[in-house]
Amino acid sequence: MERIYIKDLSNFVGQEVIIKGWVDNRRDHGKLIFLDIRDISGFVQAVALPNNEETRKKADNLRPEWIVEIGGQVNERPAKMINPDQENGHLEMSIEKIEVINKAETLPFDIESAGHEINEEIRLKYRYLDLRRKRLKKNIINRHQVFKFIRDYLDQEGFVEIETPILSKSTPEGARDYVVPSRIDKGSFYALPQSPQQYKQLLMVAGFEKYFQFARCLRDEDTRGDRQPEFTQLDMEMSFVTQEDILSLIEGMFTEMIKKIYPHKKISQKPWPRLDHTDVMEKYGTDKPDIRKDKNDPNELAFCWIVNFPLFEAELTDGHFAPEHHMFTAPKEEDVAKLDTDPALCRSQQHDLVLNGYEVGGGSIRIHNPAIQRKIFDLIGFDEKDKQAFEHMLTAFRYGVPPHGGIAPGMDRLLMILENEPNIREVMAFPKTGEGRDLMMNSPAEISKEQLKELGLK
Ligand code: ASP
Repeated sequence: MERIYIKDLSNFVGQEVIIKGWVDNRRDHGKLIFLDIRDISGFVQAVALPNNEETRKKADNLRPEWIVEIGGQVNERPAKMINPDQENGHLEMSIEKIEVINKAETLPFDIESAGHEINEEIRLKYRYLDLRRKRLKKNIINRHQVFKFIRDYLDQEGFVEIETPILSKSTPEGARDYVVPSRIDKGSFYALPQSPQQYKQLLMVAGFEKYFQFARCLRDEDTRGDRQPEFTQLDMEMSFVTQEDILSLIEGMFTEMIKKIYPHKKISQKPWPRLDHTDVMEKYGTDKPDIRKDKNDPNELAFCWIVNFPLFEAELTDGHFAPEHHMFTAPKEEDVAKLDTDPALCRSQQHDLVLNGYEVGGGSIRIHNPAIQRKIFDLIGFDEKDKQAFEHMLTAFRYGVPPHGGIAPGMDRLLMILENEPNIREVMAFPKTGEGRDLMMNSPAEISKEQLKELGLK
């Protein structure tokens, strides 16, 4: 007989079926033994009746988390036994046959509860067990739904999903790089991408016009509570667009996504307010304002855009400037002349997306004029060697570059807020600790002398 998924059992009332899954719970009521069985699709109560000595004995031996195959008849529960609060609460399987597929030792922690109260290091060490928890299953499956929605939406909008290299070269997002030694070219290193920024701009030079990718970004930053060494951005770039085109695309897409996947959530203001950076700093003292009307409402989503950023974050002591976003961000057209006269007053075409007080994305219209790009390199204090490292961008721009811009919403943070979770680890399948350790795989770890030698490292 073919295995039936538990979610489909209501189509089989009165029939004999086979289900496979985990023993969620066993309750011994003397004459009757109740087994709650779960698979990826759902949960159902099965009962071993006293008239079948063999199954009763087997049921008696079962323990939580054992993996079993259960054969039996799907029955409607009598009216007074219906439990409307329970999945399949109107059904019950009467057990005809039990086969133990695999036993399980007692788990190191409870997986029935939401799990927030359990020591996180233990949860991360046994993440594969932690992920059996209902709350985490829901988070990971909703994450899949959100990604799928976005993929389909952008496909409809004419975007092409393109992968870019992980073995790459230093990119200027302002964090430290993770590096990988080259075996063939001893003493040389790849850098893991902090974002695909340069690749996506080069894809615009290549003429793809609308690009996206769920990109893993790797940044070796000091451990601060909610940071992860690797995280996922919805990385996007578009040609021949205005800033407003980018904002409306994201606004439309996220609004539809929330309507479909999080229908109980309310977006507090539509269209999302576009706030001026200077005003926001004055009014809230931060560029990530939480503009919710009611901060106790777990279902309120207050999106806003921050625009009109200064191009430079600060004037450095040596007279150079640090970019507020990154060095490919275009100045506002009306401010270009200020690059020569008063760079600190030059505003940019940067846009940040803020949700409930968190930055959930940033981007900009990019520079597509090599002369302006060179000027920015000078203002941020690039010497000839630094400039050399980006020469490929300027070379590429010599062969016809369309005006372009993009954005990269951070998917982990967005999901954290949508799922009302306290940190991004709760929406990632295999997160690392705040110190960047993978407690399950026990990484980072030493490598062998042979490996070091092969790489030419001591
Ligand atoms: N690469 C940028 C970042 O990671 C996003 C962008 O400008 O599109 O912040």
